[in-house]
Amino acid sequence: MNEHAPIQTNNLEAFWMPFTANRQFKKAPRLLVGAKDMHYTTADGRQLLDATAGLWCVNAGHCRPKITEAIATQAGQLDYAPAFQMGHPKAFELAARLVSIAPDGLDHVFFTNSGSESVDTALKIALAYQRVRGEGSRFRLIGRERGYHGVNFGGISVGGIVNNRKMFGTLLTGVDHMRHTHDPERNPYPKGATEHGAELADDLLRIATLHDPSTIAAVIVEPVAGSTGVLPPPKGYLQRLREICDQHGILLIFDEVITGYGRMGTPFAADYFGVTPDIMVTAKGLTNGVIPMGAVLVRDEIYDAFMGGGENLIEFAHGYTYSGSPIAAAAGLATLDTYKEEGLFERAQALEPVWADALHSLKGEPHVIDIRTIGLIGGVELEPIAGAPTKRAFAAFLDAFENGLMIRTTGDIIAMSPPLIVSEAQIGEIVDTLRAVLRRLQ
Ligand code: PMP
Repeated sequence: MNEHAPIQTNNLEAFWMPFTANRQFKKAPRLLVGAKDMHYTTADGRQLLDATAGLWCVNAGHCRPKITEAIATQAGQLDYAPAFQMGHPKAFELAARLVSIAPDGLDHVFFTNSGSESVDTALKIALAYQRVRGEGSRFRLIGRERGYHGVNFGGISVGGIVNNRKMFGTLLTGVDHMRHTHDPERNPYPKGATEHGAELADDLLRIATLHDPSTIAAVIVEPVAGSTGVLPPPKGYLQRLREICDQHGILLIFDEVITGYGRMGTPFAADYFGVTPDIMVTAKGLTNGVIPMGAVLVRDEIYDAFMGGGENLIEFAHGYTYSGSPIAAAAGLATLDTYKEEGLFERAQALEPVWADALHSLKGEPHVIDIRTIGLIGGVELEPIAGAPTKRAFAAFLDAFENGLMIRTTGDIIAMSPPLIVSEAQIGEIVDTLRAVLRRLQ
């Protein structure tokens, strides 16, 4: 069969597509049938420059032979093995490798299959840890407005996106939200962390005081909010959160699903900002997005607190059929090898200023009201069409797709996060295409 054979439109109904306007999409589907390095191939045979690394995940670029070969080899050797009461070497090897690149003190890894599962796992670890260490009064979880922590119940409870929450009833109880840190008036067109707003971390103190700090188990934040529009933190903000957590026995959880694995030019955003959380939530770039896998890293004290029980006790009643599955672990190891052998984190670090200057050159183009860059992440915010929010950015997405560029939009913000293998010439191409798109937009 021709791998590029056109898909019959009557085949499109069965798949209820996630986060998609299904009816609209199925009238004029955009189908991807191949990928290599920085490009996708569309069903009509066009090349798309991938400015988003898929969904912020394909950090080493597409169809990298080392990763695909590792998956194929593993699939032929040990296709599946449980991690309940038995194991296989690659999961242990991958956990040890992760610990070796993680910030000091994050020494144990719990495997999941996605960012959402990693978030809910982290929240469960936090609550259970407070109990096992005799602080069972700490049942509250604190998130933040404009936080995105996946779509499972824990994640949407601590998350701060109204549309993702409003259809699903009461969600988790005992959750409160800090204010978001986005302040374009005080921090217009930022490159890197913003100058103003560190004091917003004191919102945690306000909430802790309101509820009594001894009722609070953990606070979760994305070091850089991605899916809600690329919101870099104010300088000093994460440090201040760390201090407040330390003062009040609150666990600090970083959701590094987007910022992990070199996206910031460092292994994790924790390294970029010099703040180490107690629990770090990761996924996406762990396996280059190729096989679903997530990993939650925890501090020694947390793991150790669970290990104090009797001989036959299962310390933590949680886990997934595919936790640390052999194929995912093989993909993870080959991905970490690729990052290291090709120096991709260092490459991203070197490109950060190039990326920032290129994107900021769009200042002054039609409809642009803000531009934010940090690491190899960028957001270009557009003036919404009056009475029709999100429409202008979506029109930009469609135009870019037709003209050889893959971008993402969230609200009226164009979000980008190219694979770390992106060249300076390709950064130029991304910006030139986007400039042309902006000039055509209504
Ligand atoms: N946390 C963050 C910060 C994310 O950006 C995402 C996905 N974009 C998730 C969690 C959820 O990950 P997944 O879609 O793999 O469940």
